[in-house]
Amino acid sequence: MTNPNSVSAKNIIVEYKTAHGIIRALDCPKFSAPAGASVAIMGPSGCGKSTLLGILAGLAVPTKGTVSIGAKNITTLSESKRVAFRKQHIGVVYQADNLLPFLNVFENIYLQLALCSDTSDANNRISDLLERLGLKGMESRLPDQLSGGQRQRVAIARAIIHKPDLILADEPTGALDGKNAVNVIELLVSIHEQLRSTLIVVTHDPSIANRLEQTVTLNSGGQQ
Ligand code: ADP
Ligand code: MG
Repeated sequence: MTNPNSVSAKNIIVEYKTAHGIIRALDCPKFSAPAGASVAIMGPSGCGKSTLLGILAGLAVPTKGTVSIGAKNITTLSESKRVAFRKQHIGVVYQADNLLPFLNVFENIYLQLALCSDTSDANNRISDLLERLGLKGMESRLPDQLSGGQRQRVAIARAIIHKPDLILADEPTGALDGKNAVNVIELLVSIHEQLRSTLIVVTHDPSIANRLEQTVTLNSGGQQ
């Protein structure tokens, strides 16, 4: 049986129709990550790294090709089933933390549990996770009352509170200084080890990629 959190993308083409014609954002014949692995995606700016991550997350459907998470082909799911699958099985971290500015730390994380209809024992689960991430006592702070590194740790807490099978991060350290960048990648690696989830991180920083088990480098067209 296919392990539930392996990732496989085949013959992916993503095209956008623009006023100047069709732009091919990604042409990726093959990408895979074994279940439970940690994989860095590198490559030049504009080669399609964010596009690939969005496709793996089920945030968008490719023009052509298939993406499977474990045995589930997510490209043929209806939009509502794809959204439901993503909420339950996938956690995404972005370069900008994307926290909701009018919700405090606790509420930002609680929202993820509410979206998964998984709020049992939420208070304890959220405070345990905040303690682990060095954010104890910050439950009622708004995002603009936190440093950049703290905000990114809250974004990670929000992405993993529901214990996803697959953690996807798009340049999660891109806006942080060296020390905070190392802390954030160490945190992602230790969470992936603890949850045994597959971790895929887009980065242009070789020292971040070196913390992961494998590196996949895309060329300017998105191919390996
Ligand atoms: P990377 O993350 O590797 O820098 P992206 O995945 O963001 O690259 O983008 C890949 C290519 O697709 C780029 O040339 C970009 O300009 C183009 N692209 C991305 N999104 C769109 C869009 N919505 N419309 C048109 N072109 C896009
Ligand atoms: Mg990008």
